[in-house]
Amino acid sequence: KTKVEENGAKAEGEGEKTEEEEKDDKAAQSLLNKLIRSNLVNNTNQVEVLQRDPNSPLYSVKTFEELRLKPQLLQGVYAMGFNRPSKIQETALPMMLAEPPQNLIAQSQSGTGKTAAFVLAMLSHVDPNNKFPQCLCVSPTYELALQTGKVIEQMGKYYPEVQLMYAIRGNKLERGVKIEEQIVIGTPGTVLDWCQKLRFFDPKKIKVFVLDEADVMIATQGHQDQSIRIQRMLPKSCQMLLFSATFEESVWNFATRIIPDPNIIKLKREEETLDTIKQYYVTCNNKEEKFQALCNIYGAITIAQAMIFCHTRKTAGWLAGELSREGHQVALLSGEMQVEQRAAVIDRFRHGKEKVLVTTNVCARGIDVEQVSVVINFDLPVDKDGNPDNETYLHRIGRTGRFGKRGLAINMVDSKFNMNILNRIQEHFNKKIEKLDTDDLDEIE
Ligand code: ADP
Repeated sequence: KTKVEENGAKAEGEGEKTEEEEKDDKAAQSLLNKLIRSNLVNNTNQVEVLQRDPNSPLYSVKTFEELRLKPQLLQGVYAMGFNRPSKIQETALPMMLAEPPQNLIAQSQSGTGKTAAFVLAMLSHVDPNNKFPQCLCVSPTYELALQTGKVIEQMGKYYPEVQLMYAIRGNKLERGVKIEEQIVIGTPGTVLDWCQKLRFFDPKKIKVFVLDEADVMIATQGHQDQSIRIQRMLPKSCQMLLFSATFEESVWNFATRIIPDPNIIKLKREEETLDTIKQYYVTCNNKEEKFQALCNIYGAITIAQAMIFCHTRKTAGWLAGELSREGHQVALLSGEMQVEQRAAVIDRFRHGKEKVLVTTNVCARGIDVEQVSVVINFDLPVDKDGNPDNETYLHRIGRTGRFGKRGLAINMVDSKFNMNILNRIQEHFNKKIEKLDTDDLDEIE
């Protein structure tokens, strides 16, 4: 037995991940982020730009008017409540709308306005009088394609001549049909079938090609090759755009293979720090004692909203039950829930309908709930090898500089193994995690 299993750190059904699950996980996370995201993510970093032609002037815009959009589109933009371009849009939009068209690879975290940017570019380049597909967008999954489709519909609200078609499995067209919609959005496999085998549209007439969520895309077996095969059918003059939330080497290799002569835009994720966070730990002997300590903490301090992380679904379920028996309004986020259900739970929590959110590590990965001031690690984050997962620790309790509110983090330690994990986390961040005596809680506010 490995050390991890002995310490019960391995979650049933959440321990080992197959490649297939990893990929579903990525797509699900991305979808979840889209479903719960209602605003732009704040980011104070500078946009890095690498121009294909470094001598050409670099335009960036501060207003949507400067882009000389079609009035119907400007109206759509304002109707969505956008006042000015987001950071990434300031640079990306002029490049995408330039004449002649420029290719672009853009990377920035989810919620920074990439989708809105390429949707605007697609809508701007369409000639509504031509009744055939001119813009093609490929997404990694059916659900993600639908989300992007919704944005196209919203932004194109005052431009009804432009129509949209979903190339997704289940959307069966009669043989011999020619698509008249100007924008096609779909998954790589279906898109490939539609233009190669079934000839529902002519790829040679595509003017704008968008490959969205490249990092999620390449996590799926076959999607990379299918995307490249689609790209090869497009005319040389077609504008090619690729977007990704992350940029590991594999994404980068794929991006440069599929996008010829690109401009490159990057916006680094805002650094998270522990500087404004008071970190504590509590020692206990078992989960019942941890629960008792939690009750003591709740008895002693006023907690507006807290997120509690557990390692397994079983612990999370148990803890949520115990807490609600104590009279707390508890929300539970668990692995067996559908993405939509998870989004609904997070949404209720964000609107303050529940004061406590209990979740497993896996479920809450990559989700920001900014207003939470207290984070409790009922179980410490460890990776699959049983090492401290510092990145997850930071992401759970850290806050980004300028917008960072003061916060409180409490770690529950119930074994030597966990004490060792805690010490290593402390060393890693070089920030003291103080011991808390839950029978005497005067010290924390
Ligand atoms: P990404 O594709 O990078 O995840 P989105 O384009 O989906 O980002 O934008 C994230 C959120 O911000 C969405 O709710 C979107 O409606 C909103 N948004 C996008 N651009 C702007 C803008 N210029 N001003 C205000 N909100 C915006």
